[in-house]
Amino acid sequence: MTLPVFPSLRITADALVPQGAFAEAQAAFLKPDAEVVARLSALLRQKNVGVVAHFYMDPELQGVLSACDWPHIHVSDSLAMADRAIAMAEQGVGAIAVLGVDFMSEDVRAMLDASGHAGVPVYRVAADTIGCSLAESAEAAAYGAYLMHAAETPRSLHVVYINTSLITKAKAHAIVPTITCTSSNVVQTVLQAAAQVPDIHIWFGPDTYMGDNLAHMFSSLAEMPNAQIRDLHPAHDQASVRALLPRFHYFEQGTCIVHHMFGREVVELVRGNYPDVFVTAHLEVPGEMFELALQAQHHGNGVVGSTSNILEFVLGKVDHAIAHGDHANLRFILGTEAGMITPIVRQVQAKIRAHASEGGPELSAEIIFPVASEAIAQDAQSGLGVVPGVAGGEGCSTAGGCATCPYMKMNSLHALLGLLGRIDVEPRSNLVPFEPRKYVQEIRGRTAADLGGEPILHMRSFQRNGELPEALVGDVLSRNAQFLQG
Ligand code: SF4
Repeated sequence: MTLPVFPSLRITADALVPQGAFAEAQAAFLKPDAEVVARLSALLRQKNVGVVAHFYMDPELQGVLSACDWPHIHVSDSLAMADRAIAMAEQGVGAIAVLGVDFMSEDVRAMLDASGHAGVPVYRVAADTIGCSLAESAEAAAYGAYLMHAAETPRSLHVVYINTSLITKAKAHAIVPTITCTSSNVVQTVLQAAAQVPDIHIWFGPDTYMGDNLAHMFSSLAEMPNAQIRDLHPAHDQASVRALLPRFHYFEQGTCIVHHMFGREVVELVRGNYPDVFVTAHLEVPGEMFELALQAQHHGNGVVGSTSNILEFVLGKVDHAIAHGDHANLRFILGTEAGMITPIVRQVQAKIRAHASEGGPELSAEIIFPVASEAIAQDAQSGLGVVPGVAGGEGCSTAGGCATCPYMKMNSLHALLGLLGRIDVEPRSNLVPFEPRKYVQEIRGRTAADLGGEPILHMRSFQRNGELPEALVGDVLSRNAQFLQG
């Protein structure tokens, strides 16, 4: 039996070479219609609207945005989105459109408010909820029970993944001292907490795969030489990491429906068909894919981490090949959502082009999507392969993987143009359904929006200063004191 080969997109200095229907669709989106680009640029400029978008956003829209000449457009991981929104507000944009899911627009709203830009409206592109399976799993009763267990344990800190709503963060923070994390900073957050608070219990959630992967990562770390551990965090050694292991807990019922699909069958296909490729994987993938990428990482041939880590890894390998004058086709398994292809193509192609223009040897990079080609539906009119999505039931199976987030795909080009058409034309009150939820209810005498913003501010403080803020550490210790007295 011939094993199926995954679709791929090869990036050369002057072309994109797709293989398979899925990759053909991605390549088509990367060459957007010039008229549409001009129309969107003009609308953004005329309405003075800044755009912050997540890497996983609809590839058609990313393709158009990446060709626009309006300077206030930024595509990144969720950590940088709020920062860039603040910078845009400081530079005078009149409103911010967030292209992502609802917890991202809530995060941007909370951080704009906290930085004195409450007057700058934030809009989502849909009047309906733009959900997230992971965020929803933290709203279930089971998560409340998990937090109550944490609250009954001395010296507890809840490390909540940013992929949760503001109300989840607020309710959690009312129960257990909470800090937000992203996939970029979660490892350092946990290690720093363990360094700052002796005998701390860390309660991570809601992503079960990420929690399990982190537990494995800390177990492997505990076996490494002390010098290597100190390179990662200077306050740690084998003994301190080992001591942390039984006090690192994670929620066991939270799943991202996209990363869930990078399971055992996909890994077997990668192992069987792609022995010599670089392997990238997001921390949210299931254990089999995580192990594959982690093994590759140990040999310098892969990375496990955030979307930014994946992008940096790919660019680093291209830089390395250029520096060594390699004549090669570098091949990468993209173990995350397919929207990442847009920034990868733009940045890799710029490097390869510059290299070619200086007379360097021919170089290309091939991005392999671990999704089965035959699972892609064909669009009858265009003949293009329809990008798979859970909502459509195409392309998503444990045999073929699923590379696109149906929630992110609600951020379509049509929806953004529709939103821009309304701004300054309709009364602001008509745009209220497009704004992030307000969360005005009070919890412990504070609005949920204010209380839910605090774990994000704690994370930002940690990012700036390298230490958990005193207020948070004090909260952990004072609740411990109450526990001992009680
Ligand atoms: S990929 Fe989609 S479902 Fe998964 S965490 Fe991100 S927004 Fe949620």
